[in-house]
Amino acid sequence: MDLYDYNTVKRILGKYGFTFSKALGQNFLIDPDVCPQMADSLCADKSTGVLEVGPGIGVLTKELCGVAGRVVSLELDKRLLPVLDETLAEFDNVEILNADVMKIDLNALIDEKLGDCKAVKVCANLPYYITSPVIMTLLESRLPIDEIVVMVQKEAGERLCAQVGSRLAGAVTVAVNYYADSEILFDVLRDCFMPSPKVDSVVIRLKIRKEQKFKVKDEKRFFTVVKCAFSQRRKTALNSISNTMGISKDKVTAVFNGLGLDLNIRAEKLTMEDFINISENI
Ligand code: SAM
Repeated sequence: MDLYDYNTVKRILGKYGFTFSKALGQNFLIDPDVCPQMADSLCADKSTGVLEVGPGIGVLTKELCGVAGRVVSLELDKRLLPVLDETLAEFDNVEILNADVMKIDLNALIDEKLGDCKAVKVCANLPYYITSPVIMTLLESRLPIDEIVVMVQKEAGERLCAQVGSRLAGAVTVAVNYYADSEILFDVLRDCFMPSPKVDSVVIRLKIRKEQKFKVKDEKRFFTVVKCAFSQRRKTALNSISNTMGISKDKVTAVFNGLGLDLNIRAEKLTMEDFINISENI
């Protein structure tokens, strides 16, 4: 079944009376090049397990089944289950679970379903409304995965993969950089989807580091400082940290002075080391 063919997709969706849900970020890929390119960039083989989020009608899932040993795919929308039964009927190495990626215990899931795979990777065309929360959950849960290849909105991708200390950086950039090396792999235009969204997308790769690159004594405090520093982007990092962490301006000024930091510096100009030093001295 050619899931890149507009009429085939229309026919199969019609057969099951499926209508797109905007709230669930349902924009399905119909471009014939994007999914194979995503699957190829995983460098998977038959010893690889892949966790997919949001299979839709299974267009990317099919490609993943072709390159990996086993695929486990989480779909929140029950209405897609009979569709997937039909579109993925030819594959015996895929399991579709009706689950919410934000609620399921991913560590237990990977252990149970993909625990015997030599490597586990995550691949998805992520629903836009939960891009950052999903990526943060995948990173913070310290899952036994070695990389994440996902499609996200172009702007979100540029922020996720920005350099810490650059204009595009945000709290999520620092968080990604803490756990992984990131890169933008390729652009995907809006007309590659059905229905077509209002924005373009990019496919990004987050390669999770086996060894921790940054040594942080108190991770909770570190991430609180990062979030607070970026929470008032128009203000200086000093004011933003003081206002949102409820620490007096004098105390934060003393910390900045002690570290030799410009008192007017904004969060996007701070480096990883600056954030670590601030969090350890505040
Ligand atoms: N992979 C398909 C493709 O590329 O055509 C569909 C991608 S579509 C952008 C996002 C998919 O994620 C939809 O199928 C949607 O129902 C599903 N989804 C939305 N929220 C979800 C959640 N919290 N957990 C699991 N799947 C979810």
